[in-house]
Amino acid sequence: MKPLEEARSEVLSSVGLLDTERVPIWDARGRVLSSNVIAPENVPPFPNSAMDGFAVRAADVASPGSILEVLGDLPAGSATDIVVGPGEALKIMTGAPMPRGADTVVRVEDTTTDGSKVAVGVAVEAGTSVRSAGGDVVRDQLVFEAGTRLTPMHLGVLATIGVGQPEVFKRPRVAFMSTGDELSPPEVATLASGAIRDSNRPMVKALLDEVGAESIDLGIVPDDPEALRNALDRGSNADFLVSTGGVSMGDYDVTKLVLEGDANVGFWKIAIQPAKPFAFGRVGDANFFGLPGNPVSVLVSFEQFLRPALLKVQGARAILRPQLTAVAGEDLDTDPEKTVFVRVFVDGLTEGVPTVMRSGGQSSNVLSAAANADAFAVVPRGAGRIEAGAQVTLEMFKWSETREWVDGR
Ligand code: AMP
Ligand code: MG
Repeated sequence: MKPLEEARSEVLSSVGLLDTERVPIWDARGRVLSSNVIAPENVPPFPNSAMDGFAVRAADVASPGSILEVLGDLPAGSATDIVVGPGEALKIMTGAPMPRGADTVVRVEDTTTDGSKVAVGVAVEAGTSVRSAGGDVVRDQLVFEAGTRLTPMHLGVLATIGVGQPEVFKRPRVAFMSTGDELSPPEVATLASGAIRDSNRPMVKALLDEVGAESIDLGIVPDDPEALRNALDRGSNADFLVSTGGVSMGDYDVTKLVLEGDANVGFWKIAIQPAKPFAFGRVGDANFFGLPGNPVSVLVSFEQFLRPALLKVQGARAILRPQLTAVAGEDLDTDPEKTVFVRVFVDGLTEGVPTVMRSGGQSSNVLSAAANADAFAVVPRGAGRIEAGAQVTLEMFKWSETREWVDGR
């Protein structure tokens, strides 16, 4: 058996980088920057007021009780030639540029005014409620590095500095199929005897969406060598070609029948559970990933091999899921020969540290337990058991939606 780390190195070292393109920020969520972004200008571009209030000279408001002459009114979006002199104030709205002469803003809450005069009830320090030019981003600074995967917040920052079409790596084109004579489309209402619905394809399609890939659905392929060769052929000009099923030891494991002996494809036994059998190599122009058939095995091999590879070809710097240390809420007994991915959910905190419990049955066909999990508890090869109360490493695959909303809280 190949250790996980070795298998992942082989996979990741054999996939290259995709070309680059420019895309509108409107469509760039999840895309990866292919070049550094340097700020062409300051953000904010000019000093401006952080509050609705009065722009004044600090010396005039050093002690409470000053009365100043109001020169006028400055809303956001306009500029003014007015210069604020000693004993003077300009009414100003949040975001409006600071007028010359003024260096401080008094909040409207701290004033009373009749329109022509304003009385300031408090002492205000110099610079209060003024946002300086470049206080967020300074012109010529490195804003985001190549390899950054763009979140909604990154897109907002790109917008503020006028980068409307960031340069990113192309999306990988991924053709995928399910294999198996027993499979019916998920849409069928009544199953023939011996049949099951294909759960892998909808899951794989969604996993591909999440990682920014463009997916090409090759459908359900029966356990027939000719049909499989045909489907492999149709997917062979994609960047990646993914199949599920047919890679283990059964008599009808058609992927193995068709591709074993092909010098460009290796059939591996990886020292992980689930997802021990795995095929990897090249079919035509495509990086070929032959995932196992059981749905939880599909999830694990996608997470451990395909997802990092799809992020790597997109130039992403961070390609693995975040890990954190948790406490096992119950004994986790596992096969010591393998790295085991136990499906767990966070069941509260022990002295501030997340405590995890198994989210259901741990057989590789029990997908509902993976759907109810927040993370894999990763039990390393050689360990065999994690006792209740001991530390365990979590690999978070459902990082969001971890806190339920309770009305009123
Ligand atoms: P295989 O490796 O092809 O023998 O598949 C292993 C197990 O996974 C069998 O019980 C299959 O029925 C099941 N399986 C294979 N493909 C799928 C699929 N697309 N959806 C649900 N179960 C599947
Ligand atoms: Mg099969």
